[in-house]
Amino acid sequence: EVHFEKEQGLLDRFRSDASVVRAVDGISLDIEEQDLVCLLGESGCGKTTLGKTMIGLQRPTGGSIRYRGQDIWEAKDDGGNAEISHEEIRRALQIIHQDPGSALNPNRRIANILSEPLRHTHPNISQAERRERMHSLLERVGMTPAGDFLDRYPHQLSGGEKQRVVLARALLMNPNAILADEAISAVDVSLRIEIMDLMLELQEEFDTSFLFISHDLSNARYFAEHGDGRIAVMYLGEIVEIGTAERLIHDPRHPYTEVLRWATPNLDLDAMEAEDPPIRQIDVPDPVNPPSGCRFHTRCPVAREACREEHPTLADVDDGDGKAACFREDPNHRYWDSEPLEGAAESKEE
Ligand code: SF4
Repeated sequence: EVHFEKEQGLLDRFRSDASVVRAVDGISLDIEEQDLVCLLGESGCGKTTLGKTMIGLQRPTGGSIRYRGQDIWEAKDDGGNAEISHEEIRRALQIIHQDPGSALNPNRRIANILSEPLRHTHPNISQAERRERMHSLLERVGMTPAGDFLDRYPHQLSGGEKQRVVLARALLMNPNAILADEAISAVDVSLRIEIMDLMLELQEEFDTSFLFISHDLSNARYFAEHGDGRIAVMYLGEIVEIGTAERLIHDPRHPYTEVLRWATPNLDLDAMEAEDPPIRQIDVPDPVNPPSGCRFHTRCPVAREACREEHPTLADVDDGDGKAACFREDPNHRYWDSEPLEGAAESKEE
């Protein structure tokens, strides 16, 4: 089981010139064995920071990240005394970056790039066995005949081929979870479905969990629908809604999810016929100084006075499929008695 959990609220701050930016704030997210979660949000919402923090590439300034109950950073600080060693955790949690070119050493042949993780996970196998394993995995990720690729350099590969090599390298570490950070953005549009299908097949074959990061709802929907996973929507460093793709697309409970739905015209939904964006203000607020109360209140089309004053937390939605952080979901909240904010529409209780 791969399991991340929050103890006191995961918090990650960056110092900018004169201020502190809360990139990720108060998030709790569990990833189970063979789980699939898509983190969705606009650029700058904190999804990459959250992903990197979850696999131990970035140290949070508060809260904790646990792998099978072991705090990742305690394992590093313990210098080998932890129940699960830092090396074991680093092996178990792998990342596929947005730009596969920058993830591959340009001066090394593909065979050298792939033999490195094998030396780590299988130190006692012969060179012939190592080559055989690299060969079969390259063919599995669609690079056939593999012999044609092993002696090439990264610059001799296309964007899609580089991403397949990066995927093969991650799998050679026998990971328990893979973070794919906008991993198909660099892949030619005509090949995206093929690469997404390949990742989903490999997830099953290698018994691994996947955390996909994307700004594109249609990609997140494809992963979540075909991989039987969940989508977590992020806004200004917080998860505002989480649930299955089916529920988020057809019955979104957070107004920001509705905005993302509107901004993704290829979802083929009747609701997309609205011409005006369902937001009051186009500009995203400054993350250095996020709005008070609900962080979405400056843009929310149904915001009321209560939203400016109180901060909503994630709560179960009534059909039991996921959670949303919006006062509109609670029929007893004082939201319903407070006045709409300027430019906001009346929200009707259903
Ligand atoms: Fe909009 Fe208020 Fe819900 Fe926030 S809490 S999303 S401002 S209705």
